[in-house]
Amino acid sequence: AKGAGRNRYSYFTPTLQVAALNRMRLTNDLRGALKAEQFELYFQPIVHLKSGRIHKAEALIRWNHPQRGVVSPMDFIPLAEASGLIIDIGEWVFRASARWVQRWRHEHHPEFQVSVNQSPLEFAREDGAYDTWLSYLQALGLPGQSVVVEITEGLLLDANATVSNKLLQLRDAGIQVALDDFGTGYSSLSYLKKFDIDYLKIDRSFTRNLAPDSSDMALSDAIIVMAHKLGLRVIAEGVETPEQRDLLAAAGCDYGQGYLFARPMPAEQFDALLREQGVQ
Ligand code: C2E
Ligand code: CA
Ligand code: CA
Ligand code: CA
Repeated sequence: AKGAGRNRYSYFTPTLQVAALNRMRLTNDLRGALKAEQFELYFQPIVHLKSGRIHKAEALIRWNHPQRGVVSPMDFIPLAEASGLIIDIGEWVFRASARWVQRWRHEHHPEFQVSVNQSPLEFAREDGAYDTWLSYLQALGLPGQSVVVEITEGLLLDANATVSNKLLQLRDAGIQVALDDFGTGYSSLSYLKKFDIDYLKIDRSFTRNLAPDSSDMALSDAIIVMAHKLGLRVIAEGVETPEQRDLLAAAGCDYGQGYLFARPMPAEQFDALLREQGVQ
């Protein structure tokens, strides 16, 4: 057995060892990050394409690591999931989002919405219920509709009782649901109806290749028409050029999000952006 162990060990290249060590260190740092207040919420506007107005934003977490600088969620969310820390982080994201949306509903638009991401593990866990979220919102004087939860399609594809139950809890609380990264997975449209989803977010891999008469244009057109027939509103992600925005608007897409409008930014800066626009 010892020999086999040694053999197995030889499969690991030095780079893999370094990567594994790096992950261990990051996970360790992650444990203290909440207490040390190293997380920060960025917000990216979701723009109503017809009017150009901003009544929605997506909350995107950043980790200001004391030595490494800003760590991308792509790098630490998987570690947070694997270590279970995602639960506390997710609660922090929700509460911070709720406090900002309270301000923006009050000062900017009465129906302002902030969407928060929930990774599959976070969403599918058995414990925890959205009634605590609802009480938190109620304490701030906010209805459930102030918040949108973004989940990915994979969750719905093999939805178990827990997932279905969570979706029902959200609906009971009035919290809306967006299907993120649409078109990247095994997109089946039947569950859009089945699970009462409110928003569909077209993945940026589609937006990137939009051109008149392209196959991605045809697909986006079809997705938008279908989504509208099912009563969903459509948000296109990764809008980077005026041409993409115009093609999407012409196809009837409701909202756009992307670098063309603004990159994700610190909350204070987003707040300033809304002030510049004035009350709408
Ligand atoms: P996502 O939910 O698909 O978020 C959109 C990502 O696209 C963000 O990356 C955003 O900065 C980026 N983006 C926005 N507009 C453009 C554009 O025009 N071009 C390009 N190339 N990219 C654009 P970010 O902030 O690095 O987040 C990456 C992922 O990390 C998110 O993907 C989401 O899955 C996850 N994530 C972020 N915040 C949270 C969180 O609070 N909780 C959880 N569970 N996951 C989060
Ligand atoms: Ca998202
Ligand atoms: Ca996305
Ligand atoms: Ca709905």
